[in-house]
Amino acid sequence: MKRVRSLKGGVYTITMIVIFAALTGCHVQQKSDKLTSVPFTDVTVADEFWAPRMETNRKVTVAYDFEKCEQTGRIDNFAKAGGLMEGEFEGIYFNDSDLYKVIEGAAYSLKIHPDPELEKYVDGVIEKIAAAQWDDGYLYTFYSLPKRQPEKRWTDVRNKHELYCAGHFFEAAVAYYQTTGKRKILDVAIRLADYIDSVFGPGKKHDVPGHEEIEIGLVKLYGVTGEKRYLTLAKFFLDERGRAHGREIYGDYCQDHKPVVEQDAAVGHAVRAGYLYSGMADVAALTSDADYIKALDRIWQDVVSKKLYITGGVGARGGGESFGEDYELPNMAAYCETCAAIANAMWNHRMSLLHGDAKYIDVLERVIYNGFLSGISLSGNKFFYPNPLASDGKYQRSPWFGCACCPTNIVRFMPSLPGYAYAQQAENVYVNLFIGGSAEVKLPGNAVRLQQQTRYPWDGYVKIQIEPERSGKFAVCVRIPGWAKNIPVPSDLYKYPDTNTERISLKVNGNPVDIDLIKGYVPIRRMWQKGDTIELNLPMPIRRVVAHSKVKDDLGRTAIERGPVVYCFEGADNPKGVAKLILPPDAKLQSDYHGDLLGGIVTITGRGQIRQDDKKVEDIDVVAIPYYAWAHRGKNEMAVWLPKSAEEEN
Ligand SMILES: [Zn+2]
Repeated sequence: MKRVRSLKGGVYTITMIVIFAALTGCHVQQKSDKLTSVPFTDVTVADEFWAPRMETNRKVTVAYDFEKCEQTGRIDNFAKAGGLMEGEFEGIYFNDSDLYKVIEGAAYSLKIHPDPELEKYVDGVIEKIAAAQWDDGYLYTFYSLPKRQPEKRWTDVRNKHELYCAGHFFEAAVAYYQTTGKRKILDVAIRLADYIDSVFGPGKKHDVPGHEEIEIGLVKLYGVTGEKRYLTLAKFFLDERGRAHGREIYGDYCQDHKPVVEQDAAVGHAVRAGYLYSGMADVAALTSDADYIKALDRIWQDVVSKKLYITGGVGARGGGESFGEDYELPNMAAYCETCAAIANAMWNHRMSLLHGDAKYIDVLERVIYNGFLSGISLSGNKFFYPNPLASDGKYQRSPWFGCACCPTNIVRFMPSLPGYAYAQQAENVYVNLFIGGSAEVKLPGNAVRLQQQTRYPWDGYVKIQIEPERSGKFAVCVRIPGWAKNIPVPSDLYKYPDTNTERISLKVNGNPVDIDLIKGYVPIRRMWQKGDTIELNLPMPIRRVVAHSKVKDDLGRTAIERGPVVYCFEGADNPKGVAKLILPPDAKLQSDYHGDLLGGIVTITGRGQIRQDDKKVEDIDVVAIPYYAWAHRGKNEMAVWLPKSAEEEN
């Protein structure tokens, strides 16, 4: 979200192999039938991994982010714009969006855990926002201070982010309305959307937001109001990209280099891109627009094959906060903005619903346990903006940023995570993520409660108790993660050099079930009765990972992971330094759980080597911790990828 704009985009020559999801042979889903997620409000998290993090988000991050919004004038800007207090605009022109995202996060938190005091506080904030809305519906404090400047409106749609802010406002309004039933914020959103709809569209102003987001917000607003114009306007903003209808084209930095249906590679600013693809997927889900889906499939294949970090992070370059060239995946210089990880997760979730394919959940899972989770400290009040895969010891989480997109994105994404765990379609329930707790799934004619017990991601044993309201025939489709099938990512970008031969086991009431996969799921269709139990056992050996030979920064190097968790070596555990560590291919590694370390983690230890100045090597014990948990013990060196031998460049 930085204001520095690098408009110089590379010229991307893309040879694209379009791989469509195999849609044949699945008896649990027809091509035209999209999945829907089981809403997060119907999923209860009760486990040792996510529950404490969601509780920290609720108790610490929500209040902390609001406090920061107060301290930095983000809330006062609305009070000033609404004539409730005197003063000038403070901060960066798109700061409104940060407050909206915290309201959205607060709404999700309130839905999970009612808190009258917090709700009262948010009501007060909404009063200020409502006061700042102009009579015609316009809402954007930067052009409202020191006085309302109607002549400035829409004069710089490319950079000023009025539409981006509106999109976040719609998301916040829908979330808060759905949680509390209070219409005030929703009515402000409707007036704003109606106003924007009166300005933009066929025969009106033709332009596109420089930063996508309004498309997602408009679709959500359509969902809650049923007002078709909002969906039409979202599609208008998408379809106008890359078309010079009496306006300047903004280029690939803004994914405005060609019409979206002709796009075939991820380019430009990574957060904008992720929001664009998410918005396209939202519209495609509602309109079944085949051209959108084809374009999304092409772009997705480009990302997972050439532009995805092993942590699930995307957006390699700091310059322009953008995607790099194919296979440009530097480690220490990796940008991997937290917001880009969130956008990547949002997009992959939507793709999984469009296609009913678990490979998208494989990417989503990689993001949430690694490149997203590193963005927030265990304490819930320190944040990474970039999430590099190596550090020389100078980098740490910060309490806040002038451009605070990441802390305010985390606060809304964390409590929405349970909504990514289950999906449904006709008489099929999909178990996507392994998170202890329960889900209430309303199938046509039956309600099913699933009770999940697991110590995932530390242990691959998952027990799911099925409790239908009454006995009935339906399918429970259990995802078998890619990592458990020797496929770290759904492409050839990363691979495990050796094969895990430990068998996955799946049982119903103690009886083995064949692992017959359909799009990454084992559909177990039967007459389910109360108390029936599924047991899944995913062996979790320590795996070495190597990157495609075209990723020059990972050449001769190995990363390690266990289950969905990517590991790193940090100075705190490797006091002789990380930069000179070597992990020989034959080094024996072992995993151990430490309940008292970094919130409870599995460490990986073994006998590695350290390179001496004279190029000799010395044997040394090495310790790896989950990547997400690094940088909690002071400034530290860190590396995800270690060379296999002293000959490799270090
Ligand atoms: Zn950000």
